[in-house]
Amino acid sequence: MGRIVVIGAGLGAMAAAARLAVAGHAVTVYERTSTYGGAVGRFEREGFAFDTGPGLLHLPAVYRDLFVKTGKKPLEECVGLSQVDPAARHVFADGTRVDLPNASRAGTVAALDAALGAGAGERWGDFLVRAREAWDRTRRPLLEEPQPADPKALAREPYPALKAGLLRRPTRTLAQVGERELRDPRLVALLDSYAEAYGFPASAAPASAAVLPYMEQTFGSWYVAGGMRALADAVYERCRERRVEFVFGAAVADVLTEGGRAVGVRLESGEPVEADHVVAGAPVPALYREHVVAWERADEEWPRFQRHATGRLTVLLALRGAREKGAVHRTVVHGDGDRPTVTVLRPDDPALRPDAEHESVTVSARLDLVPEEDGAELADALVEAAAAAVPRLAERLLWREVRTPEDVRAATGSAEVPGPALADARGEWLPAPNLSPVPGLYFAGGWSHPGGGLAHAGMSGALVAGLIVEGAEFRGSQ
Ligand SMILES: Cc1cc2nc3c(=O)[nH]c(=O)nc-3n(C[C@H](O)[C@H](O)[C@H](O)COP(=O)(O)OP(=O)(O)OC[C@H]3O[C@@H](n4cnc5c(N)ncnc54)[C@H](O)[C@@H]3O)c2cc1C
Repeated sequence: MGRIVVIGAGLGAMAAAARLAVAGHAVTVYERTSTYGGAVGRFEREGFAFDTGPGLLHLPAVYRDLFVKTGKKPLEECVGLSQVDPAARHVFADGTRVDLPNASRAGTVAALDAALGAGAGERWGDFLVRAREAWDRTRRPLLEEPQPADPKALAREPYPALKAGLLRRPTRTLAQVGERELRDPRLVALLDSYAEAYGFPASAAPASAAVLPYMEQTFGSWYVAGGMRALADAVYERCRERRVEFVFGAAVADVLTEGGRAVGVRLESGEPVEADHVVAGAPVPALYREHVVAWERADEEWPRFQRHATGRLTVLLALRGAREKGAVHRTVVHGDGDRPTVTVLRPDDPALRPDAEHESVTVSARLDLVPEEDGAELADALVEAAAAAVPRLAERLLWREVRTPEDVRAATGSAEVPGPALADARGEWLPAPNLSPVPGLYFAGGWSHPGGGLAHAGMSGALVAGLIVEGAEFRGSQ
């Protein structure tokens, strides 16, 4: 049995902690704030409650696996999981609207044909066939296995090249996928919005980001009753059942090494804590500047840290008046260059409102620029856009709370939110591997392989646990 120190109580780190405890290790989590969950936070006021981080779960299989492997009660007995149907309403810049059903290829094709004109659905369906090829090529190495020692093995564009006469034209960016294969600007906007949701600007994202709409439209979008914070509660509870210890208000200042190996951590209070293994679930660049710099210099050709992370602005809206009939859980209001694309979440969940005569709504957008001060001006733009998803929004508004990247930094340690790992020809979208360059130090959570997002961070926890329990030869368990 080894002593394991875990840095941070984010979802990726807790997923590792629970698995390591089941394997017989003595696990202690040091968390700098007063609570667990990191990005998966909750804001409450006057009977209204809001998720301040992710509002939906994709690939619930990752958490089902965690609960099966760490205890008797499956995930579904610990949280109320339901599929969100329609998965999303899209309101395009020209005013066209379409409701896309949850996890139904045929339904999506039919809805797009009806809303955008005959042939639009088929073009989207054909695109999904190619996206599936990219998914099949990358699912295991990118999501389910630790990053190979030589990540060049993953530096291949998995999205299939298109035939142009006798030649095959490689498709390198998501923008090229839209332009060459989807053509209709509304389908292009639809495609882009899946990348935007993870913080990737479509103009920069590699073609392999096509796996994001594939993943969502195939495995569905899921809501956790009471809000996503209930998932963090359940994972924390599972850790406690497995006797993982949590020390809150205990920031880790440094990783202690001896003879080049991690032997523990030093807390900000100055107290050293010995460990056989250290799992860093905190944002990697912030905490390991020293190691990161050394590492990057040694291997400049291969940027190992998730550089593709962006800020988020989230506006929490407390509304008077009941949620109208026909309201949908998620609406994506597409921007037009001047206006940002915003996601509006309206969960029909009594736990999030004081009574049936009120509603809590969350509006969020990816940010290229970190807003000045409180981001009030940008928040105005988001609320204005959200009016396309919430009838009579302005007159129903009781109050709003703006969550800026600084609030995200307070919750997680980083103002930016990292997205999932993606394959491309240069390996530029791969985050840090789980095995750090320092033996005994492992990286879990969104800043490490296989990247950010609830499901991906959960996988990172599984991979780190596998690497510690089975050793560096561990090749993934799912
Ligand atoms: C606003 C927002 C919106 C998001 N939307 C989505 C979405 O729609 N879909 C999706 O899948 N994902 C989304 N995410 C991302 C998702 O929430 C994360 O990828 C996921 O929760 C995994 O987080 P993590 O494991 O990396 O830990 P984090 O949540 O980053 O937590 C890190 C933890 O480490 C602690 N810590 C940091 N430094 C130290 C230190 N020195 N010592 C001790 N503890 C430390 C922090 O306090 C924090 O508790 C969103 C995130 C945010 C912030």
